[in-house]
Amino acid sequence: MIEQFFRPESVRQALELKRQYLDTAVYFGGGSKLNAAPAKTVTRVAIALAGLGMDKILSQDGQLHIGAMITIQTLEHSPLIPAALREAIGFVYSKNVRNQATLGGEIAARQQESVLIPVLLAMHTKLILGNGMPVDLEDYINGARSELILSVMLPEPHIRCATRKISRSTGGSAVITAAVALDGKGKMRIALDGVTDKAIRLRDVERRNLSDAALETAVSNAISPRADLCSSAAYKRYIAGVVVADLLIECQQMRESW
Ligand SMILES: Cc1cc2nc3c(=O)[nH]c(=O)nc-3n(C[C@H](O)[C@H](O)[C@H](O)COP(=O)(O)OP(=O)(O)OC[C@H]3O[C@@H](n4cnc5c(N)ncnc54)[C@H](O)[C@@H]3O)c2cc1C
Repeated sequence: MIEQFFRPESVRQALELKRQYLDTAVYFGGGSKLNAAPAKTVTRVAIALAGLGMDKILSQDGQLHIGAMITIQTLEHSPLIPAALREAIGFVYSKNVRNQATLGGEIAARQQESVLIPVLLAMHTKLILGNGMPVDLEDYINGARSELILSVMLPEPHIRCATRKISRSTGGSAVITAAVALDGKGKMRIALDGVTDKAIRLRDVERRNLSDAALETAVSNAISPRADLCSSAAYKRYIAGVVVADLLIECQQMRESW
């Protein structure tokens, strides 16, 4: 249970508090996971990030910089974000959660099901950490990292990208969430959530430059999902292939958005 709630006024203070309290302290974004059963934190100290000015969205030199404390709902309303990211935000079924949860919290929480991560992976997102250094989103979620995320950077926000969530009902948990992006040279990126314990890129399949039935088969063969409450493993393999091939066609039919 949180007993001490610090409100630092600078990133330096926040990092200093973390250095002081180490694993007994957590960074506090929107608190939607930290305060919710059964994910409620057992740590004693919270370091609130709300006073650090990390809530701006900035388009600079063709890149999009999104402050980690932007709520998912505020992000949805920004005219600066790519259409595919807006679509993915719509997959988070609860407006209450979207109003509370922050983009940084969504990434750092490493939810087993995260409908935003595939589109961010496909767009080759980087994170700017508390030490000012950039790190690939993929490396962050694959490691056991818990560094402070200051902002989220989309290097190519104009890239063609499409995403889809497959679920039994609109508000239901996802069977899978997929995203495909296609850069100016026609190079494809594929990201999938729901087929392992975290979202993944399918790099081997990307390199083969396939489409249609061949792409469907390659995606199905590249994954080894486990059955869960939402779906059998066989259905996940099948639908992942179909959706990725469909999303590639969607991307091919798009013009770059900016
Ligand atoms: C009813 C309900 C429904 C939910 N539905 C979904 C859903 O559909 N999809 C989904 O993905 N999640 C869902 N969640 C989980 C949760 O809302 C998300 O994980 C959320 O995005 C967390 O964001 P937050 O800002 O509230 O994070 P917090 O709860 O503040 O923090 C979550 C974790 O991230 C860390 N953290 C927060 N901000 C930063 C930062 N800037 N740098 C480093 N570490 C940080 C915290 O220390 C903590 O470990 C749901 C939760 C609830 C209560």
